[in-house]
Amino acid sequence: MSASLAERLRAGTMLGAEGYVFELERRGYIKAGPFVPEVVLDFPDAVRQLHREFLRAGAEVMVALTYYAHREKLRDVGREGDLEAMNRQAVRIARSVAAEADALVAGNVCNTWAYDPDDPATVRTVRAMYAEQLGWAAEEGVDFVISETNDYLGEALIALDVIQGLGLPAMVTMAPTQPKLTRDGYEYADACRILAAEGAQVVGLNCDRGPRTMLPLITRIRETVECAVAVQPVPYRTDAIAPTMETLRSPDGERAFPIALDSFTCTRFDMAQFAAQARDLGVNYVGICCGAGPHHVRAMAEALGREVPASKYSPSMDLHPMFRADVSAKDAAFLHSWNA
Ligand SMILES: [Zn+2]
Repeated sequence: MSASLAERLRAGTMLGAEGYVFELERRGYIKAGPFVPEVVLDFPDAVRQLHREFLRAGAEVMVALTYYAHREKLRDVGREGDLEAMNRQAVRIARSVAAEADALVAGNVCNTWAYDPDDPATVRTVRAMYAEQLGWAAEEGVDFVISETNDYLGEALIALDVIQGLGLPAMVTMAPTQPKLTRDGYEYADACRILAAEGAQVVGLNCDRGPRTMLPLITRIRETVECAVAVQPVPYRTDAIAPTMETLRSPDGERAFPIALDSFTCTRFDMAQFAAQARDLGVNYVGICCGAGPHHVRAMAEALGREVPASKYSPSMDLHPMFRADVSAKDAAFLHSWNA
């Protein structure tokens, strides 16, 4: 019997890993634009493989790839009829890989794009979308649910209510796309305080911001709430000028989001530093979002003091011909040219 979410949070900093949609898009299995995870049904082995890579890199949670696998999005790509099969299969795949190394399985829902705080009818629409997705997830067997990239506190509270109705622990994180406030006007820390008061076990932020611009917001949240805090930044070098990945621009002024962000990618060292900083702040669940690669996750795990299966192949630059202590005269000449 593996430790529960609550037990793991008590025991120390948990490590998560996400970014499945971006990574599987890069690998040619998801279409950029709609970003619907058709891969779950069309190429399940590709999903299984990425789960396994994150697992080997130290992720303690396999997050079912049901991001955007909701009714509105599937309708956009003409696959509404595959909705249930896609959601069930995503959980089954996550479960089968999690069982390989005692990881937890998380169900997953996200912002729906259907919610409008000024239109009460959308509350019913969103609730119905979450209820069917999470009903299937609960039947397939998840340990908890991650509701993420929430733009609106109001929409996040609907997700939380549905999750609690199923008797499952909830991790609810807001998407910090704006400088201070959710789309419905709550300071991020206040939104988290309200989610915690409503019973979320874990609250925090995910996506949109890179480490540098995520840290000040998560610091404020850590100071505000008593419950466990999660942070999952994107591995992109956002800064004061472009605080989110959506605002990053190429040198010629083109928007880099979402498929030209490569040149802004954080190194594994950036993400390792972030993991240690977040742990030192008292963040309980440290992860990574869109743009993540297994090398980031392994570096974060090692920064948290862990040796993970993929650590077997962690760098040994002392064995590189050019960087070793006893570099030969021939290689020293090479190195000289690298430094020129
Ligand atoms: Zn993301």
